Amino acid sequence: MALVLAVVFGVIFSSSYILTEKKLTKLAKEIRDENIICRLNILKNKKYKTLSEFEKQLENRLSKPDLKSFQGLIIKAAYHNPALSWIEWMGIVFLRALKMIVIPLIFTSIISGIITIGSGQNLGRLGLKTLLYYVSTSVLAILSGLFFVNVFQPGTGADIKGLETMSDFSIQQKNLKDILIEIVPDNIFKSLVNNDLLSVIFLSLLVGIFITQLDKKNNGMLSGLFSSLFELFMKITMFIIRLAPLGIFGLVAKVIADQDNIGNLVHNLGSFIFCVTSALFIHALLTLPLLTYLFGRNNPLRHLNNMTSALLTAFSTASSAATLPLTMNNVKEKSGVSEKIANFTLPIGATVNMDGTAIYITAVVMFIAQITGMEMGVKEQLIILLTALLASIGTAAIPMASLVIITIILNIFGLPFEMIAIILPVDRILDMFRTTVNVWSDSCGAVIIAKSEGEQLKV
Ligand code: ASP
Repeated sequence: MALVLAVVFGVIFSSSYILTEKKLTKLAKEIRDENIICRLNILKNKKYKTLSEFEKQLENRLSKPDLKSFQGLIIKAAYHNPALSWIEWMGIVFLRALKMIVIPLIFTSIISGIITIGSGQNLGRLGLKTLLYYVSTSVLAILSGLFFVNVFQPGTGADIKGLETMSDFSIQQKNLKDILIEIVPDNIFKSLVNNDLLSVIFLSLLVGIFITQLDKKNNGMLSGLFSSLFELFMKITMFIIRLAPLGIFGLVAKVIADQDNIGNLVHNLGSFIFCVTSALFIHALLTLPLLTYLFGRNNPLRHLNNMTSALLTAFSTASSAATLPLTMNNVKEKSGVSEKIANFTLPIGATVNMDGTAIYITAVVMFIAQITGMEMGVKEQLIILLTALLASIGTAAIPMASLVIITIILNIFGLPFEMIAIILPVDRILDMFRTTVNVWSDSCGAVIIAKSEGEQLKV
């Protein structure tokens, strides 16, 4: 509903560009070059319906170096859409709220996840096997995501107007060495305050691991504290996500209003959906069944059949956490995995192991980088692999959780987080697909690990 309204609003109140007397006076103060203002005076009070038209006029009036230095500023000043300013704030507030919750959510989600693995007799052989499965399947998933976005280049050639002017967008690409070094924070508080995703994940892993090494009294106290905090932040996140329709309305209306050519946007989004779903299908129907067959010596089709009700629930709720009771039931009752293995691998899998989410995060970053024309070579794609792997571990098992994380992942690559508005219209439907893959991977993991422990299964 919000989407449809946003499209209608954006089409009716499309943005235009006009340099009024007042705007010119303001520009004169910022540019401080009479010659340029004189040339811009010719455009005074003329209204241009699209950004391309306005840009063409600027190209005719200004020299290349002037254009390069001041084009962004002039476009921003000339931007005219009074109707949009009434609703734009909803999108901005929604994005701010997502950014607000992401660090506390990741921090507590990872710590409470590790505490579950590390508690009691769980750590050791079983814990290591489980971690190995989670990491390797996520890496395979990310590789299939990278394959599709590289081959089909969904964002290349996109002419997404307007978004660049939302923030003062300048690409500040970091190199691999710096990113790796900066994973270790030099100041814990600075990392938390600056939303440094990778450092926060690193810190959470450390805190989680060392809580499990504490004596019983302190361990118990901190475990209880972090699991309560996790629950608290999950609740707040779900509250924010309930406001998503308003946020989506504000953000998508702006994207549509600023488009010169909506067909172009639809085409790029279509190709993005194709890449994400293809990678999800390959991972779910080829990679995971193959692993289940080879390492679990099981019949993956029969296991798939056993998991139907859990997978359908995952698809309709878009939440691995909400699906967990059904996942446990299907894996234990139908596929015959023991209580011990299912109770250990599935709850932690639901929060930590997210292959579908890893594919999605990878595809979004590559898509937005392609749109902005940022080169993503082998090194950068390695950084994406690492980031998507860690970020999928930190993603909460609730609807739209990856969106929360993507807002700050874009920062790592120097991409403006407002760009997330482009994928908002298709996020929910892709969430249903990726959550299904998340749950399917957890269940295959339980089967493979149970078999490796010598259990007799029903598949
Ligand atoms: N909705 C997903 C899940 O619960 C997480 C995500 O947003 O990717 O598994």
